[in-house]
Amino acid sequence: MNRQAEDPPRRRWVAIRDWALWKRPRHWVYFTLSTEAVTLGLTIAAFLVFPITTRDMGVFALLAVLGLVHTEATRKIERMRRTLNVTPHINMTSVWMLPAALLLPPPLVAVLAAVFYAHLGVRSWGNLKHVAAHKTVTNATTMILSCYAALFAASFFLSGPIDTTVDIEAVAIAVIVGVVVHFAAALAVTVVALYLAEPDKATPERLLGSYDDNALELTTLCLGGLMVLVLLHQPMLSVLMFFPMFVLQRSMLAKQLEEMASKDLKTGLLNAVTWHNRGEREVSRAARTSTEFSVLMIDLDYFKKINDSYGHLAGDDMLIALADLLKRETRSHDLVGRFGGEEFVVLLAGASELEALAAAERIRGLITELVVSTQTNDGSPVTITERTASIGVAAYPNAGLTLDEVLAAADAAVYVAKEGGRNRVVGTANREALAPRLVSVTALMMS
Ligand code: GH3
Ligand code: MG
Ligand code: MG
Repeated sequence: MNRQAEDPPRRRWVAIRDWALWKRPRHWVYFTLSTEAVTLGLTIAAFLVFPITTRDMGVFALLAVLGLVHTEATRKIERMRRTLNVTPHINMTSVWMLPAALLLPPPLVAVLAAVFYAHLGVRSWGNLKHVAAHKTVTNATTMILSCYAALFAASFFLSGPIDTTVDIEAVAIAVIVGVVVHFAAALAVTVVALYLAEPDKATPERLLGSYDDNALELTTLCLGGLMVLVLLHQPMLSVLMFFPMFVLQRSMLAKQLEEMASKDLKTGLLNAVTWHNRGEREVSRAARTSTEFSVLMIDLDYFKKINDSYGHLAGDDMLIALADLLKRETRSHDLVGRFGGEEFVVLLAGASELEALAAAERIRGLITELVVSTQTNDGSPVTITERTASIGVAAYPNAGLTLDEVLAAADAAVYVAKEGGRNRVVGTANREALAPRLVSVTALMMS
């Protein structure tokens, strides 16, 4: 393979007025620059107020070496995690930064964060998905502010700096307070920044991050909390932290890979293979418990016209909007999948065909009301409205005893809906009695 073709362009120095920072939303820029100014101000003040001892320099040097070795050792794993992640990447420096916050004077905390983030930033240069310089500075600022907040809150429970003479119970309380406040402060700054970056797309999940992201950050902070006691009483044992961190990062990567392999990347719905596997489980369950379930097959009408008129990106936004609608309108134990192109499948657990027909009819109505704000390939804004879909409904066990038989029946019903004029729901019940014309529920309901 030609290595040169793979290498991203070499980085050059960019004039200040051309910085990517200025292209970000105005309010985000104000907020980011203000937090950076406050952090800088606090750090300069801290340099004037807090003395730095030789012991502090020793702890600083140890933490710097541990953090840099850790980052280098897990660089490949972190690069993959960063590439796969859709939500902001959680890096693992808190395991070293929280002990720094509680054991070092604030100026050294800021210097340590600068060392770690400069290292991360420089090492990400040349990667396909390298981190913009202003993001590295923003992340470092959030980290320093969270550390200051942790120290400030913990100091209410301490009479002076933490060292071996301080009562162990007071240290334990300071550690717990530090973990909680660091977590909350970082989350608060991140939520505001993410909101200001894209207010239109703000959802709780986007702003707060996933459960896994938060659990990972909290776990890292808890390990950082234990590190405080190790550094205080037996610094040599601090290398024992490497292995749990390595395994934690690897298991997070495995989880991300597993999730990616099960999902349709464009819409976040289950992909065809995963939907089928989970559907098979539903068949076994329904057979075992003698219950029903139903399948809706949903195909957008004349979808190609959206692509032809406005371009593929607008088409993609329509698919994403439909996927969101389907997720919103189904229960958490229903299976919502994308079968490819503009075909979606929904398995309604425990639903009879009659219930599924009613659900399909509701979904059909909501699709006609969808309003999708998007843009054409050349960037002009466009709103997609009044789109329709044809929906086929089939139920287990009436339409078939295997998942493929039920799916084939739903697919045949979609075909009948298309033939019948589109924008309608067609079921498969009473197929024999009504053949050759299958019943159009939409027509029935309207009559
Ligand atoms: P019908 O009412 O008969 O279903 O007409 P249709 O245009 O919806 O169906 P057809 O099967 O003729 O076209 C489907 C189109 O979907 C063709 C393909 O370019 C487009 N398509 C498939 N996958 C994607 C995708 O991921 N994004 C976009 N934007 N378009 C896609
Ligand atoms: Mg189709
Ligand atoms: Mg179609």
